Amino acid sequence: MKPTVGRIVHYVSYGTPGGEYSSQCRAAIVAGVPEGALPAADTEHAQEWESDAIVLDLAVLNPGGMFFNRCPQSEPIHRGGTWHWPEREGI
Ligand SMILES: [Zn+2]
Repeated sequence: MKPTVGRIVHYVSYGTPGGEYSSQCRAAIVAGVPEGALPAADTEHAQEWESDAIVLDLAVLNPGGMFFNRCPQSEPIHRGGTWHWPEREGI
C-alpha cells in the first residue's frame, strides 16, 4: 500500500542514548511522496534500509512541536527515524 499526501502515519522518535527517553511513535502527516528518493538526513545508513522501503517527506507532530523530515519506511522493526503504518489498538 503506497501512502498519499495528507495521510497520517507513525514516525518513530529517537530515544536518548542514556535511556531517559525511549523511542516512541508520533503522528506524522505525509507532506510529500518523493519519487525514488533516499532518506536525505540519513544517507550514511541508507544501505541498511530495505531496498523497497518507501521514503516520505513527513510533518512530524511531537508533543513539544513539529518538525519536518524525509524518512524511510521500516515496518517490522520500529527504528528511530523511520515511519510505519499506525498499529491497530487492541489486537
Ligand atoms: Zn506506531
